[in-house]
Amino acid sequence: MAEEEICTILDILAEEYNQGCYPGRNSEGLNPEWPADPFHVLIATILSQRTKDDNTRKASDNLFHNYDSIEAIASADVDHVAELVRPAGFPKQKAKAIVDCCKKLITDFDSVVPSETDELLKLPMVGRKTAACVRSYAMGIPSVCVDTHVHRIANLMGLVETRDPEETEYALMAITPRERWNDINRYLVRHGQVICIPNHMRCGKCMVSQFCRYARDNLTERP
Ligand code: SF4
Repeated sequence: MAEEEICTILDILAEEYNQGCYPGRNSEGLNPEWPADPFHVLIATILSQRTKDDNTRKASDNLFHNYDSIEAIASADVDHVAELVRPAGFPKQKAKAIVDCCKKLITDFDSVVPSETDELLKLPMVGRKTAACVRSYAMGIPSVCVDTHVHRIANLMGLVETRDPEETEYALMAITPRERWNDINRYLVRHGQVICIPNHMRCGKCMVSQFCRYARDNLTERP
């Protein structure tokens, strides 16, 4: 697929979804109580793993209302953190990772969330998706953040042909202008929540169906 086509798809989705997606965002929009700085985005993105946005928001609200800094979380009781983040699921695992993450930020990174992917990957429960999310949403560094929506939709549409999110990340980077990398997660995730819903794709209402291989191969009529 040509760069121009990817840019056209992103333009169409941007026009449709305006603000797009954001970690911890639910249908009411961003929680104004906490800023989109690297600390809050990092912790919220860890909490967002394997759960829905509404649960992430509840868990992060609970946590940040009680412990709202790297130092506060690092010295918090893990069991108490687990109670606070319970709405996000996997409370013990996530609480331990979050507390350990903040301890490591203090000891290894001078209490500053690092911006390099290799350094972010040294933090507990931080994989390529979370690292890219922090770089993209909190630091404005062009990054392709591939979650299940991005991986699924990019393959359905025929933008890439890949087996796992990491492969998708590199494939999308190769065919998308760097200045549009941050738009990929922002708009494809929203598209996956609203129109290209897993197992319930609303292809008849899809504004990018003319660019979609799945639609070409499976639909007799397009809108
Ligand atoms: S046409 Fe259907 S499968 Fe293709 S992106 Fe739109 S909703 Fe998803």
